[in-house]
Amino acid sequence: MRVVFMGPPGAGKGTQAAVLASRLGIPHISTGDIFRANVAEGTELGKQAQQFMDAGEYVPDSVTNAMVRDRLTHDDCRPGFLLDGYPRTVEQVAELDAMLRSAGHALDVVVELTVDIDEVVARLVKRAQEQGRTDDTEDVLRRRLEVYGEQTAPLIDTYFQRGILVQVDGMGLIEEVTERLFAVVVVD
Ligand code: ADP
Repeated sequence: MRVVFMGPPGAGKGTQAAVLASRLGIPHISTGDIFRANVAEGTELGKQAQQFMDAGEYVPDSVTNAMVRDRLTHDDCRPGFLLDGYPRTVEQVAELDAMLRSAGHALDVVVELTVDIDEVVARLVKRAQEQGRTDDTEDVLRRRLEVYGEQTAPLIDTYFQRGILVQVDGMGLIEEVTERLFAVVVVD
């Protein structure tokens, strides 16, 4: 199964994506996690990404696309994968389409986790305090939500038009959201 997971910063996307991927037995590929790991290790990729992440901007498509292209060639992606945080731009959608097409594959489902934006801000401020993420200060956070609205929210319509979008209410307890998610995505 090939799944894309979408939702604004703070939607609880990472948590739900991890649970769903493990339930489906496919790797959970979070571009944000990969970037953060590279920043922590001080790799060349990390150096390229950090300044953008800290400003709440997207890492350039050329960098992100190359990273995902490489990751999807790993053996563990053979039965499928769950992409969390990719694609996020029109250009990334085109690139992912090309990657899938050349492998003779297609996306099965795009999940959008929907949330109330005030709730999101509250969650992110809390997460920043708990995890000390440098991209969760209030200004940067506002910028990240703005960038999401400008660049990523429009992609949801693209996938809706293709008939593969499912929307899941992301509000409430983690377990409640997971239950809703499994009800629409997991087919036994
Ligand atoms: P969130 O969903 O809370 O915004 P992520 O962990 O998904 O956080 O991403 C953190 C940061 O990593 C983003 O703000 C951005 O700078 C960078 N990033 C992650 N995925 C992408 C992507 N597909 N394209 C460009 N930048 C990305």
